[in-house]
Amino acid sequence: MKIKVCGMKHPENINAVSQCEPDFMGFIFYKKSPRYVLDKTLVFAKEMNPNTKTVGVFVNSPISEVLEIVQEYNLNFVQLHGNESVDYAKKLYNAGVNLIKAFQVNKNFDWDKIKDYKPFVNYLLFDTATKSYGGSGLKFNWELLRNYKEEIPFFLSGGIEIDDAEMIKEIDLPQLFAIDINSKFETEPGVKNEELVNKMINTIRMKSKYQVNDKGFYGEYGGAFIPEMLYPNIKELQESYEEIIQSDSFQEELQALLKDYVGRPTPLYYSKRLSDHYKADIYLKREDLCHTGAHKINNALGQILLAKKRNKKRIIAETGAGQHGVATATACALMGLECVVYMGAKDIKRQAPNVARMKMLGASIVPVTSGSQTLKDATNEAIRDWINNPTDTHYLIGSVVGPHPYPDMVAKFQAVISKEIKNQIKENPTHIIACIGGGSNAIGAFYHFLEDEDVELIGIEAGGMGIDTPETAATLALGSQGVLHACMTTVLQTEDGQVIEPHSISAGLDYPGIGPQHAHLHKTKRVKYSNITDQEALDAAHFLSHMEGIIPALESSHALAYLEKMEIKPTDRIIINLSGRGDKDLETLTKTIKE
Ligand SMILES: *Cc1c(COP(=O)(O)O)cnc(C)c1O
Repeated sequence: MKIKVCGMKHPENINAVSQCEPDFMGFIFYKKSPRYVLDKTLVFAKEMNPNTKTVGVFVNSPISEVLEIVQEYNLNFVQLHGNESVDYAKKLYNAGVNLIKAFQVNKNFDWDKIKDYKPFVNYLLFDTATKSYGGSGLKFNWELLRNYKEEIPFFLSGGIEIDDAEMIKEIDLPQLFAIDINSKFETEPGVKNEELVNKMINTIRMKSKYQVNDKGFYGEYGGAFIPEMLYPNIKELQESYEEIIQSDSFQEELQALLKDYVGRPTPLYYSKRLSDHYKADIYLKREDLCHTGAHKINNALGQILLAKKRNKKRIIAETGAGQHGVATATACALMGLECVVYMGAKDIKRQAPNVARMKMLGASIVPVTSGSQTLKDATNEAIRDWINNPTDTHYLIGSVVGPHPYPDMVAKFQAVISKEIKNQIKENPTHIIACIGGGSNAIGAFYHFLEDEDVELIGIEAGGMGIDTPETAATLALGSQGVLHACMTTVLQTEDGQVIEPHSISAGLDYPGIGPQHAHLHKTKRVKYSNITDQEALDAAHFLSHMEGIIPALESSHALAYLEKMEIKPTDRIIINLSGRGDKDLETLTKTIKE
């Protein structure tokens, strides 16, 4: 997002604020304004750093005067802040002036009147300040801006202050181009507090240190280590995914499906009996109530819509236990797209019920007989398919793994979990606990809390038979840095880089790697990672079934089991992300019922 500092006046102050490198600086040529320019200002403006564009702000001035000033002082833009007509704008446009047209927006604003200005202006500026909002802290009414349907990018103005920075970063309007800051950053009219301006600029520009950077990395993890053949394909995806996902039409379609097809928002259930038992407030985020029985559908639907917008006709996926295959086959059936699922021959035998579900949904299943005939071999085959069909095929990856932009894209689709939690709670929880295979349900549950350092986030890996045995899937506990499935992350591998076959009682956690964002959150210590054994998870599954009448997936049971290991205080408010339901695990679970 770009930043314009407006109402600059004194040369020393301009000089100081320039050091913060704002994208635009505004000079007011309206005589009645206390920020009206001084002669010295203009001499200075003439020599400004070319990275900061100069904007002259005018209110109903004669056109000849505007043109004269623009010429004399090399102004890059003219901002029309009065009732200038379309014809007025056209004349300046024809004289080669770059224009920003400002509008005061309130509830009764006639959005249609913008249309006629369109051919002549580069940007719009919306001043959303309204008297009735003054003083309440509610200076902006972002919702009003949803009525803006044109493509011309706009500046947002109107009493913006330093405390608004985080809120501004959350605004998801793709046409929002820049913010315009002025009076709330002043010590007196026309004099900016450069420290405050600097802080604002840094906050607005800084991406979270926990999120992906422009190059597709989270610290040293992530990236796209791909065969050359895939390069154009991935690059196109990298360049388009954010814009597509953020567009109104995409969001409308996705939100409607999440609501009526998946059944969102899922409840945040206060578990009274668990709370009594553990002597703290325990909540379950009920992802098990999603259509198809787990969180995976959130991502499958997001990616299907993305594939459709990119005119892909064919979807491929890999699956281990079949859960992601089922979610993908479901989404494909819903959209009428061809679905090919790669699955290890060994897994096909082990996971018969999910194979049956995928077939029922119309997917074709390709058995993979190479290597160990499991998930990682299926992934290799899916990638091979993708290389051979780069233009018409979308590879629908099921977790926050794989080459950039997949980890970030899948995280954004699963972030709906924590977004809902934020709406469902009055005050922040003390802990959020989630299980980790690739890490998508966990990132989803953590996403909107990553910057809330008062919330302890805990990721639970599958310990299998224990992390002191070779039968484990606890990647962060035992792994080392390496490239797996086209991204730099932490991997369970031998000293010479052979991937170790992992083990977990829950098929969904049986993965030898982990999403790069988790590797980074582990390294930066923002998230605490621990592990739970097969037996502990089984016990937790039985316990929850008896205590609450909810049979959890074995994966989610790992997160639940951690309650036994925590030091719990009576004031704790703990949220467990119940990623899925246990129907698929009944065979394993019933074998362990104690008579
Ligand atoms: C697949 C699956 C997981 C593990 O995948 P993540 O990407 O780590 O969330 C966890 N729980 C359930 C129910 C699953 O189906």
